[in-house]
Amino acid sequence: MQDILNDILQTNKKYANYGQVATYIPELKKARRDDLGICIIDKENKIYAVGDYEKKFTIQSISKSIVLAMALMDNEWEYVFSKVGMEPSGDPFNSIMKLETNDTKKPCNPMINAGAIVTTSLIKGDSPQEKEERMLEFFRRITKNNNIGINYDVYKSEKISGDRNRAMAYLLKNDGFINGNIEEVLDLYFKQCSIEVDALDLARIGLHLATYGIDVENGERIISENVCRMVKTFMVTCGMYDASGEFAIKVGIPAKSGVGGGIMASVPNKMGIGVYGPALDKKGNSIAGTKMLEDLGKKVQINIF
Ligand code: GLN
Repeated sequence: MQDILNDILQTNKKYANYGQVATYIPELKKARRDDLGICIIDKENKIYAVGDYEKKFTIQSISKSIVLAMALMDNEWEYVFSKVGMEPSGDPFNSIMKLETNDTKKPCNPMINAGAIVTTSLIKGDSPQEKEERMLEFFRRITKNNNIGINYDVYKSEKISGDRNRAMAYLLKNDGFINGNIEEVLDLYFKQCSIEVDALDLARIGLHLATYGIDVENGERIISENVCRMVKTFMVTCGMYDASGEFAIKVGIPAKSGVGGGIMASVPNKMGIGVYGPALDKKGNSIAGTKMLEDLGKKVQINIF
């Protein structure tokens, strides 16, 4: 496995030149375009990693899958899905359009910004501080990394430049999909996106989903089996934004990307995968990272279909 990873890293480095780091959140511009790393943790808990797998970056949209798991554990599923849908949108992750054109006005799914802001609003806690603490604690447990925290420079940058998300959130409140204080919900959303991780942390999350919620080291359950199944299903249908169909055809595994350059993938009963490569394609997916997963799939049987 280690040789395969060395090989796919070398072959795909060049693709970083075809992409750009995200710039709409000013702080993300500081990433180094040609960084690239991948980490795999298998269900025997063996770790294989190459390249910039210990480089820190912000989790961004990958947080949507973890916060979805929390929302599904904090609330009745029926209630969650009365506020957010189950269908791919086919639109960019930050699109506002279907909030107007859909019959129900309900956000299509929890993996696009509008739907994710709804799931963030469903996190339980008596105060904004308690919600943030619970969220961070959950991320620490699922990554098995007690150092997980927020990158405050990115958080501030998101907050200052987040007017599109703000517009969506107010619309969602107007249409009855979010209750409570919108600025508090957005604040938590910006914080969850600004959580700092590395590819190793992402592989650990992917492994938890791959084992249906059981920690391979101590047998402890963190997420229920059914919630793991739902999160992975959303990752397949919506995890790579409006490139999810193509990714399912080419790679065929549950994966979630973020504009920080990360991809978290999960191969059921086999392994978790974390990728970092901040040069993005036009849809916001790591360009070399996606190519590495494609190549991995050609060398190792990971396709779930
Ligand atoms: N924080 C980013 C945003 O809300 C997350 C988007 C992403 O990773 N696609 O725009």
